Amino acid sequence: MAKNTAEKTKKKIGLSTQIFIALLIGALFGVVIHYWIPSSYIKDTVIVEGVLYVVGQGFIRLMQMLVVPLVFCSLICGSMAIGDTKTLGKVGVKTIGFYLITTALAVCVALGSALLINPGRGLDMDAVQKGTVSSTTEATSLVDTLLNIIPKNPVQSMANGDMLPIIVFALFVGIMLAKLGTRGSVVANFFSQFNDVMMEMTMAIMKVAPIGVFCLIARTFATVGFSAFAPMLKYMGNVTLALAIQCLVVYQILLFVFTRLNPFKFIKKFLPVMGFAFSTATSNATIPMSIDTLSKKMGVSKQISSFTIPLGATINMDGTSIMQGVAVVFIAQAYGIPLTMGNLATVVVTATLASIGTAGVPSVGLVTLAMVLNSVGLPTEGIALIMGIDRILDMIRTAVNITGDAVCTTIVCHQEGSLNREVFNRD
Ligand code: ASP
Repeated sequence: MAKNTAEKTKKKIGLSTQIFIALLIGALFGVVIHYWIPSSYIKDTVIVEGVLYVVGQGFIRLMQMLVVPLVFCSLICGSMAIGDTKTLGKVGVKTIGFYLITTALAVCVALGSALLINPGRGLDMDAVQKGTVSSTTEATSLVDTLLNIIPKNPVQSMANGDMLPIIVFALFVGIMLAKLGTRGSVVANFFSQFNDVMMEMTMAIMKVAPIGVFCLIARTFATVGFSAFAPMLKYMGNVTLALAIQCLVVYQILLFVFTRLNPFKFIKKFLPVMGFAFSTATSNATIPMSIDTLSKKMGVSKQISSFTIPLGATINMDGTSIMQGVAVVFIAQAYGIPLTMGNLATVVVTATLASIGTAGVPSVGLVTLAMVLNSVGLPTEGIALIMGIDRILDMIRTAVNITGDAVCTTIVCHQEGSLNREVFNRD
């Protein structure tokens, strides 16, 4: 009996809970180190830049190591299984449609809230710490963003980790394998077995996630503390509020309207993935965990998620476009430049396109912000105003980015009739 209870308790502290506990303790540890431990060799070099950095980065690298092979194989298997190009095309068009619409909605939420809150009004420019913008001004042009979808050399794309061209190539391979049928069975089997190996590896690496998450969060707080954010509190508050509206209201309404699933249950089950995205600020690294959670806890078919999740992690960045929408208003107000209705409409379009061009790795949203600012004639130097505090917002928006992918995936899966509601409703 006692053993039974012990087993139950052990079972209850699942991986998700462990990740959250690690997140909280890590933040606390970081704050304690930042405020209460005086600077010393042991603190700065051994703990913060030594153990915390090495273990945290090591964990991110382990997850990143999986991304290219996992996405490549699982997409081949997914498109092979969906088989005929018609269905794949239908799922693809629907998914991209959802992704674009949710991003445009996100920009509207951002602009609406920023115009109400006026985050940049009355900003004392001298009080704001300025950084350099040189590294953030090289946004890719729109035409190039579109052309880059087609890989010139798939092997090179894989070596560079460029997700969109990899997705295109993998889809092609899968469709051709489906067409070849038994003639391609050796290659097909190889990819499906390799896919199993990658999934197994994901599970193995996830076991150390709590340690990785602890180190990542602890280092962030130990380095920055709370005070670094003080001057930008209003801007941060605005971005966070808009992100919360998108994640907790817009997505959940969409989910309920299209699928009738319980939004609270969805959030509860997806929270660990959000926590993981939060601590890594990398949509790409979250792909394996997202696919796994959607399949095991929500009953979303892997055939669909293995296509839509990597695609979403690459082109659907609602959280990023929210930051960009608020940043546009913030910078315009800080520089005293009025925004017309035409300007706002342009921002909706360019921020939506910038989300396609933003890679799912930390801080890229700041780079593509240059493209959005350019489109309405705002100075890209304005990026310097928000650079210092972007890291923490990057963490929050990445969590929203991947939640958007998961919601759209669940909706599309439901519409394709491949959602297992029994799994979703299970506790
Ligand atoms: N860190 C974000 C992501 O990976 C991208 C960004 O907004 O910089 O989703």
